[in-house]
Amino acid sequence: MLVRLDLNVPLRTQGETRVVGDDTRIRASLPTLRRLLESGATLVLMSHLGRPKGGPADEYRLGPVAERLGELLGVHVRYQPSSGPASSDQQAFVAAAPAGSVTLLENTRFDPREERNDPALARVLAGYADVYVDDAFGSAHRAHASTDGVARLLPNAAGELMIGELRALGRLMDDPQRPYVVILGGAKVSDKLAVIESLLDRADSVIVGGAMAYTFIKAQGGDVGDSLVEDDMLDVARDIVQRARGAGVDLLLPADSVCASAIEAGVATSVHPSDAIPGGLKGLDIGPRAVAEFTAALSGARTVFWNGPLGVFEVAEFADGTMAVARALAGLDAFTVVGGGDSLAAVNRAEVGDRIDHLSTGGGASLEFLEGRELPGVAVLRS
Ligand code: ADP
Ligand code: MG
Repeated sequence: MLVRLDLNVPLRTQGETRVVGDDTRIRASLPTLRRLLESGATLVLMSHLGRPKGGPADEYRLGPVAERLGELLGVHVRYQPSSGPASSDQQAFVAAAPAGSVTLLENTRFDPREERNDPALARVLAGYADVYVDDAFGSAHRAHASTDGVARLLPNAAGELMIGELRALGRLMDDPQRPYVVILGGAKVSDKLAVIESLLDRADSVIVGGAMAYTFIKAQGGDVGDSLVEDDMLDVARDIVQRARGAGVDLLLPADSVCASAIEAGVATSVHPSDAIPGGLKGLDIGPRAVAEFTAALSGARTVFWNGPLGVFEVAEFADGTMAVARALAGLDAFTVVGGGDSLAAVNRAEVGDRIDHLSTGGGASLEFLEGRELPGVAVLRS
């Protein structure tokens, strides 16, 4: 059985070896793998990792991932470093796999044909098995040889992670229980523009925090000091505010901000109205009034989607707002979904992950799904 996973995890150097830095995505893949192994399947696993430029690169080899996956799964994961997943030595390595074994192929992106969705690569990969299972929700927004190409050549099915993501995110799209409140934060409006527009059509309230808020506040004539602003997005921000008004959606911005001259631990902080931040200071977290208003807006919500931290939560001085909202979310009697790499890190830091209904590991794929776009990796399984 050929299984596409999203094992694109951060690696770090420990002494002289590379090890997995955060194994969330590996753990998320375990339910499907356990189920397939219980059914007696021989597994050939594929994933990309990082952005090697269409050729082999030592720092993106999947060896450390095979190691960690083996530990978590409790079975040996066969892996052989190679120039790519379809090299002749990888083909021989797969051919030698014992029945019931687990083999992890080398990084799919070492082969330049992967991102071009080249049928010649898909044919070699499809030749490794007689059935294809796609559990790589995080890669479903890309039509690559290992996601789209192979699905066209083999009988296929979606894995448990893929199904869980589609079910949870689907609940946000199709008839969510109301009130439906969306919390958006993070660094840039431009990263999230398409999803903001789609959510305006669906949510009852949109709470905006993080650096993104200052572009909105400046667009409405506020003084945001040295806060991060995307000047080329001011018109777009103004337009979003108008559209929210027209659609009867409450768009909430932080009334006050925790400010400092630099993003540094130990720096002096002060609280200012978000539209009157003195020059030389940056807004780096939502302030206490904003926390109170945002938690009040959340109370009574029946559906909540959160993407993007509300401040620079990586630094203790600017973490309070994000932590307070994470805790508020955890205490709601609502269907709660959090997506985004940094947002998941924030939820883990607040230690409330087990009280959130769905933690979406999808990143870009989750946002594209919520934009209302059909994901190519999902469409090909349906067809
Ligand atoms: P996610 O990964 O959850 O989608 P983003 O990548 O969009 O989130 O944004 C996360 C980043 O935004 C974090 O590194 C955080 O430090 C940064 N950020 C949040 N608020 C601010 C702020 N007020 N000023 C500067 N950076 C901010
Ligand atoms: Mg991020």
